[in-house]
Amino acid sequence: MSHNNTSLNTLDKTHFLHPFTDFKEYKATDTAIYTKAEHIYIYDEAGKELIDGMSGLWCCNLGYSQPKINEAISNQLNSLPFYNSFFQCTTDVTVKMAKALVDISPAQFNHVFFTNSGSEANDTNIRLVHRYYDLLGKPSKKIFISRHGAYHGSTIAAGSLGGFSGMHKQYTGLSYVEHIGQPNWFTEGGDMDKAEFGIKVAQELAAKIDELGEENVAAFIAEPIQGAGGVIVPPETYWPEISRICKERDILLISDEVICGFGRTGDWFGAQTFGFEPDLMTFAKAVTNGYQPLGGVLVSDKVADVLSADGGEFTHGFTYSGHPAACAAGIATIDILKNDKVIENAAADIMPYFQAQLRTLESHPIVGEVRGMGMVAALEIAKNNSAKERLAPDCAGGAMVKTHAINHGLMVRSVGDAIVTAPPMVCNREEIDLLIARLTIALDYTAKHYGIKT
Ligand SMILES: *Cc1c(COP(=O)(O)O)cnc(C)c1O
Repeated sequence: MSHNNTSLNTLDKTHFLHPFTDFKEYKATDTAIYTKAEHIYIYDEAGKELIDGMSGLWCCNLGYSQPKINEAISNQLNSLPFYNSFFQCTTDVTVKMAKALVDISPAQFNHVFFTNSGSEANDTNIRLVHRYYDLLGKPSKKIFISRHGAYHGSTIAAGSLGGFSGMHKQYTGLSYVEHIGQPNWFTEGGDMDKAEFGIKVAQELAAKIDELGEENVAAFIAEPIQGAGGVIVPPETYWPEISRICKERDILLISDEVICGFGRTGDWFGAQTFGFEPDLMTFAKAVTNGYQPLGGVLVSDKVADVLSADGGEFTHGFTYSGHPAACAAGIATIDILKNDKVIENAAADIMPYFQAQLRTLESHPIVGEVRGMGMVAALEIAKNNSAKERLAPDCAGGAMVKTHAINHGLMVRSVGDAIVTAPPMVCNREEIDLLIARLTIALDYTAKHYGIKT
């Protein structure tokens, strides 16, 4: 790679401990340092251009060139760069952002708690839910149920909610979090058809609640589509059954919308796409188009009414909860999504086009499955396109496709053997064609390496 011996590369290795990185291995790896971005393209130090097939990190749903967001941030920094929301005060934009979020959310949501990230928002969910049941006089309801393969963030609490075993190995997770299976038909569906499998994995929730005792279980948390876990799109039967189980058993339902929210699935929120009604929704990432750190929880009336009835102080919050610059970015992002009808337009054209073009890769000899919805998808790399067998041990096939894709100008991510892509919603058809062309080159090179004819 071209940036091997630059001084930035050396400084990076010398001083910067990157997130989710093997530090030893990284010392011997070339750093990709990005210095510029435009529309859906990112550029490294040497000027090499890549299509950003990951929207930053599932953040930049509107791509990189949104001057209205930049302007909103800059104007805000000039008028009021910071004030807090503790002690009976706040800022004008923080209030306006709360209202903007409520306006685009399903009817049951009229309140927002702000954080700076998705992780903090999920920590906040635990605090809110425990407080809710304490105030209701049900203090034994403390257990959260989540799923294997879920990603809910990286603080101790959010990481405990998540289902990544590699993370759990490195710290002692919360004692009141339990995990059930994920609706991953490709790896766990066996001989079942998708509908049947959807019901079966949803039923694991009922069994888990019954095992733990309904009086001890507080909430079930899940992403509508598991994102970092490899874009696990649940069978159609899954969410209605989960929803039924939560209602029947008096368990709060939390939808982690950090990836699915703000258009990714073709609606404002993934819960709308899948037709279920959560009690709480976590948001972050695309809420500001990734331009400012902002996260939070949308709180339904059912929960908010109890919290504000007669409870005393809720002893939780962050210095930067509702930071004005982040809220200004959020308002501008929501304005663009609304005024330009970005989500409706994408759902009518570029999303179905993206999904259809990706599905053409199903006949590629090393693609076992293509799954996705809206502007998020994954290709499962396999030994052939009708079997669930891995192309190579340790998911080396997926890793190789990813490396070739990046070398050929397409940023994607690999999760095990799944190649994940979630490009900005502002792509046009030609850009989707280019993305598919670059992905195909990566698949062809990988197939060739393993002696498979394309
Ligand atoms: C990224 C992510 C989080 C964590 O958000 P951070 O801002 O990185 O703390 C939580 N949930 C989901 C679904 C995510 O994708």
